[in-house]
Amino acid sequence: MSCLFCKIVEGSIPSTAVYQDELCYAFADIHPAAPVHVLVAPREHIASLAEATEGDCPLLGHLLGVASEIARNKGLPKGYRVVVNAGPDGGQTVDHLHVHLLGGRPLSWPPG
Ligand code: AMP
Ligand code: ZN
Repeated sequence: MSCLFCKIVEGSIPSTAVYQDELCYAFADIHPAAPVHVLVAPREHIASLAEATEGDCPLLGHLLGVASEIARNKGLPKGYRVVVNAGPDGGQTVDHLHVHLLGGRPLSWPPG
């Protein structure tokens, strides 16, 4: 198995855990783009949102719910952003589906 985030999820590559349950693992981004930058990844390997199927919809909803719960726990009263990069044009660099939670500073729009 060569997937970086599969290794992080199973613990063979170290990470800073933020939250975990039977479906997902959330950890601190190694190159934070904001004061709060957490990645929420499913334990199951799904390469990209572009490869998710209808059967994955409950899991996708769970990932969003977890991101919002982490945001609540981090205390981000002015808001935050949740991002899923998909494919090369979407800026995805790790081919294991993950949700970015970014907050703690004003975030510009549109993204680059
Ligand atoms: P994306 O570009 O959407 O695929 O996001 C991948 C994210 O993973 C980037 O924000 C990276 O900084 C982050 N990342 C890469 N390697 C690690 C690692 N070993 N631990 C934590 N985050 C990582
Ligand atoms: Zn993986």
